[in-house]
Amino acid sequence: MAELSPMMKQYFEIKEQYKDTILFFRLGDFYEMFFDDAILVSKELELTLTGRDCGQDERAPMCGVPYHACETYLARLIAKGYKVAICEQMEDPAKAKGLVKRDIIRVVTPGTVIESSMLDDAKNNYIGSIFLRGGEAGVCFADVSTGVCHVTQLTEGDLDGGIIGELCRFAPSELLFNSEILKHKQVTGYVKDHMACSVELLDETDYEPKAAEERMRGQFGPGYEHTAGVRKNSPAFYSLSALLAYLAGTQKRGIERLKTVDVYSGSQYMQLSPVTRANLELTETMRGREKKGTLLWVLDKTQTAMGKRLVRGWIEQPLLDPEAINERLDGVEELYKKNVLRADLRDALSHVFDVERLMTRVIYGSATPRELLSLASTCARLPDLLALLAGCESNALRGVQAGIDPLQDIRALIEAAVDEEAPSTLKDGGVIRPGYDPEVDELRDIMHGGKGYLTDLEAKLREETGIPKLKIGYNRVFGYYIEISRAVTTPVPEHFVRKQTLANAERYITDELKQLENKILGASERLIVLERELFDGLLSQVSAELVRIQATAAALAKLDVLAGFAEAAVKNSYVRPAVDGGDELVITEGRHPVVEQMGKGLFVPNDTVLDCDENRMLIITGPNMAGKSTYMRQNALICLMAQIGSFVPAKAARVGVVDSIFTRVGASDDLSAGKSTFMVEMTEVAEILKSATAKSLVVLDEIGRGTSTFDGMSIARAVVEHIAAKSGRLACKTLFATHYHELTDLENAIDGVKNYNIAVKKRGDDITFLRRIVRGPADDSYGIEVAKLAGLPDEIIARAKEVLRVLENSTTTPNPVMQLGFDNYERFEEEKAPPALMERLRALDVETLTPLEALNTLYEIKQQLS
Ligand code: ADP
Repeated sequence: MAELSPMMKQYFEIKEQYKDTILFFRLGDFYEMFFDDAILVSKELELTLTGRDCGQDERAPMCGVPYHACETYLARLIAKGYKVAICEQMEDPAKAKGLVKRDIIRVVTPGTVIESSMLDDAKNNYIGSIFLRGGEAGVCFADVSTGVCHVTQLTEGDLDGGIIGELCRFAPSELLFNSEILKHKQVTGYVKDHMACSVELLDETDYEPKAAEERMRGQFGPGYEHTAGVRKNSPAFYSLSALLAYLAGTQKRGIERLKTVDVYSGSQYMQLSPVTRANLELTETMRGREKKGTLLWVLDKTQTAMGKRLVRGWIEQPLLDPEAINERLDGVEELYKKNVLRADLRDALSHVFDVERLMTRVIYGSATPRELLSLASTCARLPDLLALLAGCESNALRGVQAGIDPLQDIRALIEAAVDEEAPSTLKDGGVIRPGYDPEVDELRDIMHGGKGYLTDLEAKLREETGIPKLKIGYNRVFGYYIEISRAVTTPVPEHFVRKQTLANAERYITDELKQLENKILGASERLIVLERELFDGLLSQVSAELVRIQATAAALAKLDVLAGFAEAAVKNSYVRPAVDGGDELVITEGRHPVVEQMGKGLFVPNDTVLDCDENRMLIITGPNMAGKSTYMRQNALICLMAQIGSFVPAKAARVGVVDSIFTRVGASDDLSAGKSTFMVEMTEVAEILKSATAKSLVVLDEIGRGTSTFDGMSIARAVVEHIAAKSGRLACKTLFATHYHELTDLENAIDGVKNYNIAVKKRGDDITFLRRIVRGPADDSYGIEVAKLAGLPDEIIARAKEVLRVLENSTTTPNPVMQLGFDNYERFEEEKAPPALMERLRALDVETLTPLEALNTLYEIKQQLS
């Protein structure tokens, strides 16, 4: 077999070390891919597959992307879950002797992208690392693009549930595990079914204790146990050090970005299961997975990308400590009351750039001149912002003020160095401000005013030689020359070197002229290199100030969120909740924060009294569409809003912090995962019963409806009894909506259970929803009236009533419907109902139908008839 060409050998040597990546191999102005990578990428990105001689008989399959436009191709591959290793030319091909040196400068993976075009401004992009050992887990999540890193340890209780909880809170785009994870099927199943992230199983060697310690020391100093807050050899230690190793292996540059670590404990935050997060539509809607229609959509009135990410983070993790919550609320209240201050602050913030992500690019050395100018212009806003904050009284705002460093030195540094008109790339120069560097100025002078240098030299030479007719000229072949007419008889100085003899003149060059020529001709090249050097130097200088800039960015983000909450409170007429460590959830005229914004009509406010005593469980009845779900969710959301430090949609509210909110509501079917509706419902109920505590808030919407009436009712009742029993483990605040009227009897059986219903007004066959919650059970289910409202045809409504009457009057017959003659169906016969339809009606087992199924069936029948 023929030998591979030297370049292909180089390719294979590099590829060998990065087998699981797509290798972008820089060749001149392109990144080329070869062999399998080329075949794969040409398919994935619809690129033309070509070939290249590689020394063998057959040409190597090849495809490529232009290097200056590689970002879009890269983004598409990363989005598809691939990793891409970028292999650069490490020397100028024009100057290289033999094969150009090449090396991997970075491996781009979903969790390590820093390019703004591949990131969502409003979301953190986390890479997670989870280390499991002996029933404990170290868990950390870092966002390389902003430099944040959160670490915790899970040591007790339901380990799998805990890990899943953290995963859904941070929603990482890439995950690293040790092999122990393979024993945790619940976690692997969850990741596979519910998370769109790429997963890497690391080797045991990646957790080698000595190397791990070295890495931690290298990153956080010898006192890392103190600076990073992670104990040596603990699970958290290994999860964090493995993450650092992975970043070092893929990034080469920029890992110093992770300077600080936030060590948190699960008990700091409200526990929210994945189901509850989805049900409450905190950050995305259940149907379209959109922001519009979520709590985030209502509360996000931030002005900066940093604020947008933070408000999302706050919503994802409500606090438990009343003191911390009240500190935030104090800040919001101050801004709520001071309208002018709020407006001024928000205006100033609207000019603040995404400093967090900008700093990452500064550290990676990939920030553009324009981006540095954005940093300077953000710094320029800081003195004003600080002046605005000077009179603030709340601790939250004082903390913000203390966190903001005016950064005027950095602003001055950038403004002195970078031309305010600088282009967005470095490739054509024009970046460094005149006056910053004498050599840059000189080179520019030479380029633009080269003629001036020449005339000066000409004048000088004329004087020196005493030849007034001496001229400096230029041609392509010889470059610059000194021309002296043959008519001149004065002797030419010795250092003049004759270059060309013409009929009536001689042409010479001198060293001085040659130097000037080099300067003029090389100036633009040299200038670009010099500007790059100076700019890189500037980036390093700014990088060195990371800690101050990062702290300022964090303070600005917090200010933005607090001001945003205040703005939402004013715009949406919210009130400050009284938050304490007690048990009460007492709301006067509460509203659903999202429905009231989305709804067309006026939203009807409602009161709530829940506690762990006399009003532990509210059983809520009322017809479909009355507003039961809305009411229950609004209470859960008000509680959650209070615990993130926001004002709430109500006239008044007292919120005793809850440690978790659990919800079981109808619509989250998991049929794609092969579970029936009923199975899903029961799994979720089981989860609630297992995980809730006496400090939790539980919302159950119509449990038991996925099975037959009697089964369903029995299960629902048993669940209610279990949760509500005062002597039981839970006895926690619970909202329970049901269509089983029978359950309203429980008010008399268990103290602490209270019946409520959502009032409707009935006039004849018509009902009007009043949307008011009132004490007592609903007097009727109004199913038929609701069906009428939904537009079922009159004859079906009439027949349904007949059936209902028979059912209601029967006390003995096991299946009264069977006693019903079918004479009454003649109407349909006359109208020539299709026999199949008749058959279906006959086969219906009305007793086992749930009201919803009955409705659906009626609906289908109607459709078939029309
Ligand atoms: P249920 O759970 O009783 O079937 P929903 O809570 O789904 O009813 O409410 C049905 C519709 O009524 C919702 O789409 C909502 O727009 C509207 N709604 C509910 N509560 C109110 C209210 N308090 N004020 C105004 N509209 C409401």
